[in-house]
Amino acid sequence: MSSSAKLDIAIIGAGLSGLALALALHKNGLNNIIIYESRPASLDIGGAIMLSPNALKILDVLDVYQPLRLRSYEFDTLHFRKSDEAMTPVDTFEFGSATKYGYQALRVYRYELIEVLHELIREKSGISIMYGKKFSRLLSETNEGVTWSFTDNTQVSASLLIGADGIHSQVRKYIYPDLEPRFTNGIGVTAAVPTAQLQLPEGLETPVTLMNNKHGAFVIAQQLHDGSEVLIGKQRRFTESLDKDGWADLLNNKEWCLDFLRRGAEDFPQVVSNAVSNIPKNKINLWPFYMVPKLDTWVSKGGKVVVMGDAAHAIPPTAGQGVNQAFEDVYTFAGVIGALENQNTDDSEKRRTVLKRWQAGRQARIDKVLELNTMIDKRRLPNQDSSDVENEEFDLGWLYNIDFEKTIAEWCA
Ligand SMILES: Cc1cc2nc3c(=O)[nH]c(=O)nc-3n(C[C@H](O)[C@H](O)[C@H](O)COP(=O)(O)OP(=O)(O)OC[C@H]3O[C@@H](n4cnc5c(N)ncnc54)[C@H](O)[C@@H]3O)c2cc1C
Repeated sequence: MSSSAKLDIAIIGAGLSGLALALALHKNGLNNIIIYESRPASLDIGGAIMLSPNALKILDVLDVYQPLRLRSYEFDTLHFRKSDEAMTPVDTFEFGSATKYGYQALRVYRYELIEVLHELIREKSGISIMYGKKFSRLLSETNEGVTWSFTDNTQVSASLLIGADGIHSQVRKYIYPDLEPRFTNGIGVTAAVPTAQLQLPEGLETPVTLMNNKHGAFVIAQQLHDGSEVLIGKQRRFTESLDKDGWADLLNNKEWCLDFLRRGAEDFPQVVSNAVSNIPKNKINLWPFYMVPKLDTWVSKGGKVVVMGDAAHAIPPTAGQGVNQAFEDVYTFAGVIGALENQNTDDSEKRRTVLKRWQAGRQARIDKVLELNTMIDKRRLPNQDSSDVENEEFDLGWLYNIDFEKTIAEWCA
């Protein structure tokens, strides 16, 4: 395993982590990569996502940012207001800034990002994607590599196996057989409507979250490049934990979702009633918030199986960092593996040490994001007295202005 041509890497999951990881590995000179995806084809799952400068810096290096920008809505700040008629400002949260962090934040449909990633992958030789291949279980891990099976009973081997297979990861089960993601007792229901329908009051900046003590938080966030559409969404506590089919049934129960969005609209400013007056049912999404308990390690004992993205650390959406942190995982991992390959080392102890440093460094960032989530929650939750936090500005330089190349070099030193 001392030359990059020999290191064959298998990635389980062609979601945002898996696709970006393939591109990042390729950028680092690794070109023997197969992505295995359980779905029959790339699907348009979920709605739009928000990307912050830390992730955009990565996507820029991977040549994703410029084409993506043309498909995205750009903004800087998330606004938080009371749900009184005056919509009294309470708080703001920076999500991007060209002057401070080099990038405005982007809001973009997930399928647009997946499409751009696919286009770039098609241009590269040495990356292939196989659909309809569902990882089943790991069969063996040796110094040479790993062997596993798919649910169609075929067996495959590779030098390195990466689990980028999301929050309910099967690959993770090899390292943590009994671990299950934990429901956080929160759900969000979202939809998309034309911006014109809202008749946004003059001067009301978006994205804005209107906070109501009784009914939870109502989010309005413009999307599409020209901002002609808005995401509308409501987040609330939901104590009943359902299984996979139960959540799917709830999502398919469009009347329930509509009622969730509309309930209490009369207790919000008029803009919310306008927003929920006409909701296309095909634009409704439901997001139960799960998290993966903190893992001691993301790397198997033998060092040949690694999990990342939601498989390693699915986190609640408060600071909007879920997918942004996943991009940090894959970019730094690819940098570390690329550096090890360039050093042409067969020293497996060194590989293990560097991977340990990578994971510890990544976990430290995730822990800081979780701390940030807690601080933001204090401001957003209904019944929260915001007077003590009102004018405090978060220092977000640590999050958005990170120097990835320096960090990678330190881990590999
Ligand atoms: C409705 C919704 C809205 C969201 N909005 C935001 C947002 O605004 N901002 C944000 O930062 N985050 C958001 N998130 C979270 C974000 O989507 C995740 O953090 C991100 O998708 C993680 O990417 P991933 O590639 O690690 O996992 P996933 O996106 O879950 O991708 C995993 C892939 O692996 C495949 N797979 C699973 N099991 C197997 C198997 N056994 N074999 C083969 N393939 C398999 C899946 O089909 C999938 O394609 C949202 C999530 C949801 C559900």
